[in-house]
Amino acid sequence: MQITFWGVRGSYPVPGAATVRYGGQTSCVEARAAAGDCIIVDAGTGLRALGGKLARESGGQPMHYHLLLSHVHWDHIQGLPFFEPAYIPGTQISIYSPVTAADELQQVIGGITRHEFFPMPLEAVPASFQFHQVEPGNDFSIGAFRVMPIALNHPYGSVGYRMDRDGSSWAYVSDTAPFTQVLHKQHFLSGPEPLTDDDRTSLGAMREALVRRLEGVDTVVYDTHFLPDEYARFPHYGHSTPDQALEICVEAKVRRLVLYHHAPGHGDDQMDQIAAMYLARGAGLGVEVLTSFEGMTLPIGPEPDAGSERKRERTLPG
Ligand SMILES: [Zn+2]
Ligand SMILES: [Zn+2]
Repeated sequence: MQITFWGVRGSYPVPGAATVRYGGQTSCVEARAAAGDCIIVDAGTGLRALGGKLARESGGQPMHYHLLLSHVHWDHIQGLPFFEPAYIPGTQISIYSPVTAADELQQVIGGITRHEFFPMPLEAVPASFQFHQVEPGNDFSIGAFRVMPIALNHPYGSVGYRMDRDGSSWAYVSDTAPFTQVLHKQHFLSGPEPLTDDDRTSLGAMREALVRRLEGVDTVVYDTHFLPDEYARFPHYGHSTPDQALEICVEAKVRRLVLYHHAPGHGDDQMDQIAAMYLARGAGLGVEVLTSFEGMTLPIGPEPDAGSERKRERTLPG
């Protein structure tokens, strides 16, 4: 299995001279098995170029595509109306999302293609769509891929995915804040509300379930939108820092962490600094830390041996 990054930004696209090397498109990753079949994770503006590639690969023939959505914030769905295979008659597109019901997801996707916003409404698009609701804890299969949805801490919720295939595994953990605040209770103006005991219990359980789900995974792609000083200013935006991601990955004995969902304001030079800083910090903790860029392809290694001494020797970040 291998993964390719088609969009690595959070919030909104940032094309321009400052983002030439890391890229300016929003969230979209392609997971591809050696057999050639693939799953798409998130449909940010990076999906447009991926759709072009998939349409060329199919030679214009209709195929069945599978798209997992973490949630339906703009930066995770905006590429969908520009997905070229959707305009090939006979194409089937299965969309999986944590939206509360499949019919609600249809309304969301149909909503962004309403005639006021887009020239072609969803009903007129040649492809046929199937909408599936995912629930953390309810694992499912797409062909030979095993998909495990994981609850994340984000305003109105978000879902991460662990994906296993042919003895290798990776996980997509975006968007999420650390597990210290209940984000649906936050208000941008009033700030955080005090946590109740129930809040603490449910956040702790969510964090524990995430760590358990990531245990032994080869590669974890994680929302590391903020640097620590930025996070301190915007703790209620629903995103993490590389340090918070490292803490989770060390606990789960993950081999490799990939920084992802970069803040739109972090230009190439700053991204170089972030990449170098966290590569070194991760090395000290036994985690390989890579920084995603548009066009990056990573082979996903075999699931590490659970009894490996090297894994056990890791310590938590201080
Ligand atoms: Zn996002
Ligand atoms: Zn979001």
